[in-house]
Amino acid sequence: MFTPLEGRTVLVTGGTKGIGKGIAGVFAKAGCNVVISGRDAETGDASALELTRRGGGQVAFCPGDVARGEDCRRVAETAVEWYGGIDVVCANAGIFPDTKLVDMTEEDIDAIFATNVKGSMLTVQACVPHLERSGRGRVILTSSITGPLTGFPGWSHYGATKAAQLGFVRTACIELAPKKITVNAVLPGNVVSEGLDELGEEYSAQMAASIPLGRLGLVEEIGAAALFLATEEAAYITGQTIVVDGGQTVPESLAALQAM
Ligand code: NAP
Repeated sequence: MFTPLEGRTVLVTGGTKGIGKGIAGVFAKAGCNVVISGRDAETGDASALELTRRGGGQVAFCPGDVARGEDCRRVAETAVEWYGGIDVVCANAGIFPDTKLVDMTEEDIDAIFATNVKGSMLTVQACVPHLERSGRGRVILTSSITGPLTGFPGWSHYGATKAAQLGFVRTACIELAPKKITVNAVLPGNVVSEGLDELGEEYSAQMAASIPLGRLGLVEEIGAAALFLATEEAAYITGQTIVVDGGQTVPESLAALQAM
């Protein structure tokens, strides 16, 4: 039995949809107060209302673009104003546009790094003083299997950002350890989300066929891994990654998968 997290404050960037909404829902169910951020206010307000109605802790939406430092600082300060502090930050906001390297523009590269890498770093930086005050601060990044472990045509820039997040984790965890803040990352495989849906049914079907457990992941399954990293019992885990992919990265070959 894990020590309850009831009453803690959690900030989830990109918490208005997909995996972030799943993470927010899992923490709210555990009795945490959750601030979700994103750029689209209509979706954000609707998601906050929906998650609050499910019961548990309160969920509130604060608009913000993680690629902008002033937005990251305002979102963190708003969370503190509303709930008195920040105990956990889930730097989850991310984009995954699909472009082959030969067609990629400099703007494409800048845009994905601004959200996925700079956005994660600015979010964490804005939360550090509050996490330190918590005395049991937790930073949890949503990386991916793509980049750190695997590759997929169309996502060389995306894979580079997701691997870069782990480089950040490995130094930030050392810098923040004296402040009693742990820094870890969850690496999802293919998870049903609004963003993944945009890649089409064929993509999802092909992915499901390459996963030993035979299905895509659920957003709540990524939330469960994030929740574990936020527990008292995970206080000694820092600078690490948890892969949540239904076994997708394990088979040595197609034959290994088909031999089942
Ligand atoms: P999604 O359904 O498209 O949701 C993305 C969320 O991020 C939305 O809330 C979106 O809200 C927000 N967002 C995007 N750009 C933002 C910005 N500049 N500032 C603030 N918020 C921003 O995507 P998802 O599939 O849940 O992916 C979430 C994270 O999981 C990403 O980091 C992604 O790389 C990672 N991931 C996903 C999968 C998967 O299979 N789904 C697998 C591995 C890793 P607004 O658009 O309103 O800003």
